[in-house]
Amino acid sequence: MTYSNNFLDVVFFGPQGAGKGTQVAKLWGKYGKDESWFRVQTGDLFREIRSQETELGNKVKNLIDNGFLVPDDITVEIVSSKLNLEDVKSKNWIFDGFPRTLKQAEFFFDFYSKLQNRKLVVVSIFLPYEKALARIEKRLVCKSCKAIASEVFGLKEGSICKHCGNGVLEHRADEKDIESVKKRLELFETQTLPVYDFFQSKGIEILKIDGSPSIKEVHETIIDLLKPTEYDGIKKSFEDELGG
Ligand SMILES: [Zn+2]
Repeated sequence: MTYSNNFLDVVFFGPQGAGKGTQVAKLWGKYGKDESWFRVQTGDLFREIRSQETELGNKVKNLIDNGFLVPDDITVEIVSSKLNLEDVKSKNWIFDGFPRTLKQAEFFFDFYSKLQNRKLVVVSIFLPYEKALARIEKRLVCKSCKAIASEVFGLKEGSICKHCGNGVLEHRADEKDIESVKKRLELFETQTLPVYDFFQSKGIEILKIDGSPSIKEVHETIIDLLKPTEYDGIKKSFEDELGG
């Protein structure tokens, strides 16, 4: 008897302000402890590999310590070697912030297309430039519990977080300077948007999600769209949510 299992791998995609990070965190908060999921975060993987006494580890350590970005081919090499590990191979994967460039997408697709019993889906959370910018300008984060709040609801820097009840709200350090936020949004358009076109050209299923509604509504839309009927691996994870 042959036993085959299907895995669903989800690439999260979207500009700053669209809520990608929040949605991945929400999903991960629920299912992260579940054995059937593995989250790909290049930052974590770089930290892990640089602490190892290997040729690759030393290479990465030298690059980062000297202020260089890890090149695309090495980034994909690190990601792929992790995904090739036996215990990671038998999980569904969530990609957050990877692939970030067209080169990464091309290298990654080369690796991915050789795998079997896996299906890749892109969840693209979109928000127009002006809306994303307006949202970031008003966004506040709790110093203590990291919950997201907004000036839209009459809160301001120094207000007390309603989520934990004692943290102080502030603008995120990397969102204070609106000019650098604009630069990052432009970088998304020039560097990362081509990744979307690439996946589309390869016939990868892309689920487009409007990032304008509330965090809860967007989350429910994502769960609904990923509603697994044919993917045994994550079926169990979603059943509670769908039933509840
Ligand atoms: Zn808080």
